[in-house]
Amino acid sequence: MKVDKKQFFLIFFFSLAISAQAPSVRIIFENNKIVLIEDFWVKESGFYLAMDELSGKLKLTPVFSKDEQWLFVKIHNQLVTVDLKKNKAVIGEIPISFNGVIKENGKWYISEDFLPQVYARQGVKIAIEKPILNHNAELSSFPEKFKKDLIDVIVIDPGHGGINFGANTTSGWREKDLTLKLALKLGSRLRGAKGLNVYLTREDDRHLSLEERSDFANRVGADLFISLHINGFSSETVRGFETYFLSLKASDEESRRLAMLENLEFSGLNGNQNQPVNGGFSELELILGDMAQNQHLSESEAFAKTIQNHLGQIMEIPNRGVKQAPFKVLMGANMPAVLVEVGYLTNPDDLHNITDPKVQDKIVYALATSVLEWKKLKTKQLGMKESYDTKGTGK
Ligand SMILES: [Zn+2]
Repeated sequence: MKVDKKQFFLIFFFSLAISAQAPSVRIIFENNKIVLIEDFWVKESGFYLAMDELSGKLKLTPVFSKDEQWLFVKIHNQLVTVDLKKNKAVIGEIPISFNGVIKENGKWYISEDFLPQVYARQGVKIAIEKPILNHNAELSSFPEKFKKDLIDVIVIDPGHGGINFGANTTSGWREKDLTLKLALKLGSRLRGAKGLNVYLTREDDRHLSLEERSDFANRVGADLFISLHINGFSSETVRGFETYFLSLKASDEESRRLAMLENLEFSGLNGNQNQPVNGGFSELELILGDMAQNQHLSESEAFAKTIQNHLGQIMEIPNRGVKQAPFKVLMGANMPAVLVEVGYLTNPDDLHNITDPKVQDKIVYALATSVLEWKKLKTKQLGMKESYDTKGTGK
């Protein structure tokens, strides 16, 4: 690792404080395989990983053109072409946007946001965990879970899927389709933002258990978890949007009913989620399941308020506020986690609104703005900007 000289000793001692090893960038695969990269640069624009170390450890086969204009890398049998002069890359003919490549002391380094995108194109999800570099804060003030406070991994969870339709109408609208549409739009919007790794729990119409969703978020080291839903009710007069965070006790009877419905894994089987039913979980599950999310409740509440506030600025349907209920999908999440109900499928005006692509874009804008605002707030609280090597001279 190379950073500014002045930072060296603090980083060195801080590294000792968190582990006995040299700082390294961790590449975490879905099967929990972890690859450590020790040769990297830290620049204002982010982390850059040594091509030769990546090649050896990930079995890539990089070939540089003689004029050093092109780099060809084979990853999982797919050829990625990188234009080293223009900092652009394509897989086949599809462009990838990433921070770029740098050459230091005759060696090539590639920005860390490159790999997740290349792997994602091939259906492989990876997370990049970066070491903490901060020379401003007192060493003793670093909490144990310092890494958790950095916002760089976002998981979006489109509610329901596969045999689980979620709320649905006789006219054929299904919650699972609309949540997927919103999640895909939100995903591509956030992927364009610098310094974010964005994952969806599903990118097609498939069934996932509620545990699989929060487990996935934990595995990729998510810093925020957003579960997207659309409400339904037996009376079509009920309408509006609301954002939830976890509580064992529901804010009101309606929230309790909703949590029970959302906690049903196979609501699609009986065709209609809109009828109140007795669903849920045992008392033991409630107590055990609550533990992971318990540590993040105040942040989940603050993030829920941020979302509800931004949605409130653009939505033309009633604002039902921030509420609490025992949602199973939030319980196992070991990070701030919220569940957004963007409206009622069973109310004609809400339905007209949330099925309109223009309104969907506005919803996505409000959610993306909430994430970016949250990231900015957390980064500022940590004084992270000062930690980068702004000169870029290294060593
Ligand atoms: Zn739902």
